[in-house]
Amino acid sequence: MSVSRRIVLKTGAAALAASALPVGLATTPVWAKSALNMGEVKIDVLSDGNLRLPVKGVIPDAPADELAALLKKYNLPTDTLEPDCNLTLMRDGKNTVLFDVGAGANFMPSAGKIGAAMEEFGLDPSDVTHVVFTHAHPDHLWGLMDDFDEPVFPEAEYMISKTEWDYWIDPTTVDKINEARKSFAAGAKRNLESIEDKITRFNFGEEILPGIQALSSVGHTPGHTSFEIRSGSESLVVIGDAIANHAVAFEKPGWRSGSDQDGEQGITTRKMLLDRLASEKMHLVGFHLPYPGIGYAEKKDGAYRFVAA
Ligand SMILES: [Zn+2]
Repeated sequence: MSVSRRIVLKTGAAALAASALPVGLATTPVWAKSALNMGEVKIDVLSDGNLRLPVKGVIPDAPADELAALLKKYNLPTDTLEPDCNLTLMRDGKNTVLFDVGAGANFMPSAGKIGAAMEEFGLDPSDVTHVVFTHAHPDHLWGLMDDFDEPVFPEAEYMISKTEWDYWIDPTTVDKINEARKSFAAGAKRNLESIEDKITRFNFGEEILPGIQALSSVGHTPGHTSFEIRSGSESLVVIGDAIANHAVAFEKPGWRSGSDQDGEQGITTRKMLLDRLASEKMHLVGFHLPYPGIGYAEKKDGAYRFVAA
């Protein structure tokens, strides 16, 4: 497996802003690409921008002193986190597969940049043959339609786990889900309905496309899915949001994530996935890990560490 990387900074205002940052932050990408070759299979990561999330919401019940020490160790602020949004692109010569579509224009101003990233990358949205969803949260799904309600990826077939589909398409979900997630439920239903005749619903464990297997990683959402991509003896897992932070989720996988709909199940899934990734030394791409989010999990002193590739 070979990894090469080219970071492309957004030109204009953002590049100027980046150049004004202290040394060390100056190369923070606005959008960019990175490549990893696994035989016939080529993996690139396109940035959709980033989110802005309050630390209290993401890590709600960690011991305050331990959390503060951990955030300090990773040079992270204690008030607001700004996780990147990394969209994985897989090309095998036949299929061009995009994992999730990003946030679109109506979620957060700092996200929804995939169109610009693709342009920079030199890929036309109509070249995407398949869109595969890890789950139906806004930052992964709401980029489906453009401002004119036309599909952003006009030639794509869509795929999502049956469990995830059934949950969000259920008209009672919006009533049952907690207050903070009601807009997520309404947005998921509206977006999914718009592609109802173009979407395949798969079961966990299925090989959904040649070389891509769906792995159950539920907890973050009821049908959250990770994907194992195999090419010869090499493999990589698109983990989605099952491990959503390079500091806390790796070092303290047992701390509940406020982003997980089922916190306890999220912990079980995270520990299981980390154990497998580390013991089998598989590459991973994390949607919210520092751009481009490619690396692997290393087990050390009973905890894990994200090692960027
Ligand atoms: Zn997410």
